[in-house]
Amino acid sequence: MADSIRAVEREWSKASAKVDLARLVSTQKLGDLSAQLGECGESLRERGADDDEMSDEQVAALSEHLQKVRDGASKVSSDHKELHGNISKIGRAIDKNFTIDLDASGQENVFEAPERARMLNGVLCDHFLRQGRLDVARRLAEEAGLNLKDEAISPFVALNQILESCQERNLEPVLSWAEANGDWLKSRNSCLAFKLHRLKFLSLLEAGERARALEYAKNFAPYAEMKKREFQQLMGCLAYAGKGLSTSPYAFLLDPVYWTEACDEFMKEACALSGLPVTSHLSAGLAAGCSALPNLLQIKSVLRQRHVHDMWSAMDELPIEIDIGSEQLYHSIFACPIMKQQSTSENPPMRLSCGHVISRDAIDRLLTGLRLKCPYCPVEMQATDTKVIHF
Ligand SMILES: [Zn+2]
Repeated sequence: MADSIRAVEREWSKASAKVDLARLVSTQKLGDLSAQLGECGESLRERGADDDEMSDEQVAALSEHLQKVRDGASKVSSDHKELHGNISKIGRAIDKNFTIDLDASGQENVFEAPERARMLNGVLCDHFLRQGRLDVARRLAEEAGLNLKDEAISPFVALNQILESCQERNLEPVLSWAEANGDWLKSRNSCLAFKLHRLKFLSLLEAGERARALEYAKNFAPYAEMKKREFQQLMGCLAYAGKGLSTSPYAFLLDPVYWTEACDEFMKEACALSGLPVTSHLSAGLAAGCSALPNLLQIKSVLRQRHVHDMWSAMDELPIEIDIGSEQLYHSIFACPIMKQQSTSENPPMRLSCGHVISRDAIDRLLTGLRLKCPYCPVEMQATDTKVIHF
């Protein structure tokens, strides 16, 4: 992979250098031509002040200039055309170095059924709403025949407005939100309010408003114990109000990362409050897909080598279990190792007296009379010794 990236990068550097050179040359060339034309126009105006007719000499000089301009312009244009070759080389390098056939890892007709297509459009719509792209979401809903209700849109509109102001370093809307939902944030042990107050305090200090910052510092009072170290640092900042703060030992507190962190935390809390997942289904699906893809491609090629490539496409599930990291885990699901099925409320996971867990359907199959032998260890038990497990 690294080699492929380097190969594309090489072509990109070459093309980029050529583009820069061409820009320099053409800017100079066009500048020269424009200056020459200016001079020519100037001399024509001077000489032609008391005579409207141009002399033969003037006509000849003007045609010479015009010819130069034409030549110059066509040279610039042909230089520009040459660049296309270099740029298309980047495209070819990408095609050559990233030849992964992604189609091999998916099923073509998976979204063909109308119900599935509707679900996919719904997921896309939800994603656009989260991104604050209300116009796109509305248009998609309209064209895909989805019923997008105003109640579904309004929470996102409010959230996005607050988020945008925070990104533009206007803390008032997000501070009012945090105040209005103070009890909820407290119940979750959230530090959002502290982080927002810290940003506000530092902004005041940066603006050289030491007295206002000191007054504002009373907002830290509830966190003084919990955030002792941070509190000390902030009090230390008071010695460096104004420009001095950026060269002080506390300059690290001005890192833009603190703003990003506050924005992310606000979205996390606001989504949790509205009962929404933090990331959209589309982002979650994409992230899971990206981490699973290398494994999927590998297994596909193994299946193909063994001439059993039809095996996978016939199934509605993956042929192997893929670890996509704990961040992508949302619900624990139990799949019965005997029946190879996911558990349901009718067929729940059951704990045997030895500790092994299988589904109720599997137990029914293994029962001989009222007795049962664990399929993993030789322990025998009564059917009544098993217990339903709840996740
Ligand atoms: Zn057992």
